[in-house]
Parts: sequence; structure tokens; C-alpha cells
Amino acid sequence: MNYTLAVIRRTVLGLLMLLAALGCRPSTPPPSDRPILILISIDGWRWDYLERFAPPTLSRLAAEGVRSEGLIPQFPSKTFPNHYTIVTGLTLAHHGIVSNNMRAPDIPGAYAMSNRDVLADPRWWGGDPIWNTAERQGLIAAPMFWPGSEAPIGGRHATFWRPFDDDLSNADRVSQLLAWLRLPEGERPSFLTLYISDVDNAGHTFGPDAQQTRAAALGADRSVGELVAGVAAAGLADRVNYVIVSDHGMAALSRDRMIVVDDYIDPATADIVDWAPVLGLSPKDGDVDKMYAALKDKHPHLQVYRRDDIPPVYGLAGHPRVPPVVGIADEGWYITSRSEATRWEQHERDSPGGTHGYDARARSMQGLFIAAGPGLRRGLITGPLENIHLYNLMCAVLGLNPSPNDGDPAVIQDMLR
Ligand code: AMP
Ligand code: ZN
Ligand code: ZN
Repeated sequence: MNYTLAVIRRTVLGLLMLLAALGCRPSTPPPSDRPILILISIDGWRWDYLERFAPPTLSRLAAEGVRSEGLIPQFPSKTFPNHYTIVTGLTLAHHGIVSNNMRAPDIPGAYAMSNRDVLADPRWWGGDPIWNTAERQGLIAAPMFWPGSEAPIGGRHATFWRPFDDDLSNADRVSQLLAWLRLPEGERPSFLTLYISDVDNAGHTFGPDAQQTRAAALGADRSVGELVAGVAAAGLADRVNYVIVSDHGMAALSRDRMIVVDDYIDPATADIVDWAPVLGLSPKDGDVDKMYAALKDKHPHLQVYRRDDIPPVYGLAGHPRVPPVVGIADEGWYITSRSEATRWEQHERDSPGGTHGYDARARSMQGLFIAAGPGLRRGLITGPLENIHLYNLMCAVLGLNPSPNDGDPAVIQDMLR
């Protein structure tokens, strides 16, 4: 979308959000009857793992609740942009997290998901994440490890959150959630998140079809099973709703599908913000036309655009956080440097497993969506669902007035009980 339009739209959204915050609220049930919602992300769980790997807990929850045949991510189908869409209902252009790695003209330094300081800087994060929606309307939230939860977005943190620590075992993550759920009424959160990264890690290293990925998926399912059992033991089974998602899927890579940047430009002449499968470049000498011409139509599986000319379907044209030259690899193709490609060719590196980030219309980029619990229909299977609709669904389950967002409430209406 044209950036000026995006700014106007964001201003209007902001005003509506303010009115929503000041205005009427749904009548809240007494605390002891209030629904609880646990949002679970299993990073990189491709839609077909559910049938291929037959995980017992997820299969049972899917049968008892709602599931879609896939969850359609936003482009680029990467972790941070999509996790943040799920909790805001906003497209990337509207919430501002346009990639895992980016620059912004008005914020010094680079955004990277490994940099704790930038993750905690609220200037990067637009929109109203559901934990803020919930806390403004009187609920307590515990968004553990969810992208955005470490920043005081809109000037506030949720009541409970923890700095991201990928070394914390899944069992300990589940234990933390259960400890919060065992708090007395009035202190207990109504919205919580669980994040599991192993399935994505295995998909990257070994590929979507590997035994190791299957093992990681079954391990993630066991963790969800421990959570469900803990919820029941805490006497909360009839109040807890589960929304189980992934941020994107996974496509297999191959040594035969490499696009080597050095074949077209000297990588030292560019500030390379992003590599694969979406290349983001800023020429160091400022000559965008020259860099664009050096890459455009040079590789049959690399589509190259100037920032302003990115096709509308990607929703990012002209966005100031998008680099001036962008190259998008076709599904299954990898963009790399000569030195990394050589290591692969000489088998000094393990064979490339998988990646994601591709055009969100590719079936392999679709993720998981299951929703089960007292607020949700039983036994409903829908076609592939776009992830912008989940914020409205979660607000409806929790009885919240949603902030303005890009989702369509009509899409999720049938999923509610
Ligand atoms: P991706 O390859 O885009 O799917 O990114 C996956 C990686 O993101 C995981 O392996 C995690 O290490 C990292 N990650 C996920 N959530 C967070 C977070 N809240 N803070 C920092 N890193 C995260
Ligand atoms: Zn991810
Ligand atoms: Zn990943």
C-alpha cells in the first residue's frame, strides 16, 4: 500500500483506538466465571504436520474445537512480523514490524531479533497488542516470550512477562504458565502465551520432511499436553480456551537452488539488511538505480524491485522500513554469499534443510491454527485462514472490545460458541 495512505489509515486507527479505550466496554462477568485464553505458538509448524505426524494432544484439541486447513501468514513469512500480526490483527505496513531485520529512518541503529535493546524499544512496535487491549479493559495478561512483550508498547508492559530466554526448557515454560494460573482469583492472568521454537529450529536444520522435525513436533505436542493436564489439575479446564498457531510454515532447500549475490554485485558495496529468502539492500554509494539494474532479471528465480515498486500483493510498497532494493526468491530457493555457497558445494556445511519467508501465497508457508475451549465451536474445520483475523477471535473469546484492526469480524463469527 502507498505509504501516505498507510499513515492516514494509521492516524484514523489511532483515533478509533482512543475512542474505543474511552468508550463503552462489554459488561464483564464476575472474575470466577471469566474465560481464560492461552495463545500457543509452535514456531515453524507447517500446516500438514498435524496430519503427517498425528500429534495426540493437538489432534484431540483440533477434533474438539475449530481448526483451519492452514494459517496464511503475511509477507515476508518470518517470525517477528507474523507473531506481531497475530496479536494485533494488523498487517505489517500497519504495525511496523516489516521483517526480522530492518532499519527505520527515524530510529537510529538496526532492528534485529537478537538485539535485546531494540526489542525493548517501543518505537518499533505499532498497534495495540491484545495484552494491552486486555489490561486496559480490566484483565491481567501474561504474554511470555511473545515478540513485542518486552517493549512498553503504548507506555505499558503487561503485568507478567519475562525476557526471552531460548535456553529455558519447554517444561519450564509450561511450569511458569501453570504457576501464574495457580495464582488466586484477582491476581491470575486471563491471557497467557506459550512459545516453542524447536520445530522451527529442526525445520531449518534438517528440513520439513526430516525425522528430526517430526520428533520436534511430537515434543512440542507433549509440552502442550503437559499444559493441558496442568490446567485440568488446577481445576480450570472449563474456563481455559486454547488458540494454537504457528507463524509460518517451512519449505525444503537444496544445494541446487542457490542464488549467489556475489555473481551480480560486490556485497561489500551494499548494506545487506536481510539475506534469505528476501534480500534487502541499501547501496552504500546511494546509487539505487545502479544496484537495481545489476540484480534485475539476472537470476530466473529472483524477483527484484525498488522499494516503491514492490507489487501490491506484498503490502509493503514504499514503506520507509523496507530497504531501497528488495529481491524475493522463488519458493525453495536460497539467497546466499559466495563463501557460504562454496562451503555447501564442498559439503563442508550440512546440507541446507529448510527456510521460510517466501510469498505467503505458497502452500508451504501456511501454518497451524487450532482453537478449542468453552468459548469455541466443536468440530469445525474451515479453509485456510489469514492470520489478521485471530486478534478479533481472541478478543471475542475474552469478551474484549477489539481495537481497530485489519481483520474482518465476520470471518471468525462461526468459530464462536
Ligand atoms: P525465524 O527463523 O524467523 O522463524 O525465527 C525463529 C527464532 O526467533 C527462534 O529460534 C527464536 O530464537 C527467535 N525468537 C522467537 N521469539 C523471540 C523473542 N521473543 N525474542 C527474541 N528472539 C525470539
Ligand atoms: Zn518463525
Ligand atoms: Zn524460522
